[in-house]
Amino acid sequence: MRAVTFQAPGEVRVGTVSDPVLREPTDAIVRVTLSAVCGSDLHIYNGRFPRVPPGAILGHEFLGRVEEVGSDVTRVSPGMRVVASFFSWCGTCAACLAGQMSQCQHLETFGFGQLAGAQAERVRVPRADTTLVPVPDALADEAAVMAGDILSTAFFAAERAGIRPGDTVAVVGAGPVGLLAIQCAALYSPVAILALDRVDERLRLAASFGARPVPADADATAAVRSYTAGKGASAVIEAVGSRESLNLAIALAAPFGTVSAAGVFAERDLPVDMARLFNRDLTLRSGLGNVPAVIGRVMALTVAGRLQPQRIVSHRMPLDEAEEAYRRFDRREALKILLMP
Ligand SMILES: [Zn+2]
Ligand SMILES: [Zn+2]
Repeated sequence: MRAVTFQAPGEVRVGTVSDPVLREPTDAIVRVTLSAVCGSDLHIYNGRFPRVPPGAILGHEFLGRVEEVGSDVTRVSPGMRVVASFFSWCGTCAACLAGQMSQCQHLETFGFGQLAGAQAERVRVPRADTTLVPVPDALADEAAVMAGDILSTAFFAAERAGIRPGDTVAVVGAGPVGLLAIQCAALYSPVAILALDRVDERLRLAASFGARPVPADADATAAVRSYTAGKGASAVIEAVGSRESLNLAIALAAPFGTVSAAGVFAERDLPVDMARLFNRDLTLRSGLGNVPAVIGRVMALTVAGRLQPQRIVSHRMPLDEAEEAYRRFDRREALKILLMP
């Protein structure tokens, strides 16, 4: 089958690899109908995840149809339209039983060198009964493909920000996660959402989702202060994953505010303005998205029109053009790219 593999920093390749096969009776094989390129794929592309070996099949955001199931699979069957969270989970360990699936003792991620990824024609899904989620008929493909990672991640970012009706929210970074975080933050009825980014086009899109655009330049902190009568934003969502953006998010927060870090942090040692967190009674929250806990809710909100993830799709490209897709995304010439096998 055709698949996208990581080769070396700055190099991915579309090539022919062997088809996945059922290895365990709890496995399923899914024929991928749509996959997406995620910001964390760019971390791999840029060599920031050195544990991903050359040759690994990339991709962890996908939609497909079940093609084949192992003898112990009971909840999904061939032909079903399904998504999965970006990781496979067991459903029986202490963490899973406590509802903390993102801390599953047997967690395996797709497309990060553990499980083969889904930017391919087919993908093997272990523990298919827990990992695969049937997609409602009313949910469009281009929205459904985002439920397993980016949309759920944005949903958690907003939930962790502790937004109350009437709050002013700031979102640092209006890339794919930030734009969806704006949609999710709006679910909590804030009085305003300020969107910070350096790219005009992203700010325009943020504005079309109801946010107030703020150029992320040297005056950004002053702009947020002046908009909030000097206080700062009571909830700040950081959607970049860098030292600079995290400390900007901390600087924007009002006393007793919450900073919710949604970016994927590849750095282990990252200086944080701890004095400011302490002196202003701030709460800093982060974490993996516990996607299986909310995937049904984000799909329901999308079917109801309350979330519109498909609006961030900027490119639809054949899987065979994935090398160009990665280059464009890396140059920030694309917002959200979908790949069609
Ligand atoms: Zn992702
Ligand atoms: Zn588990």
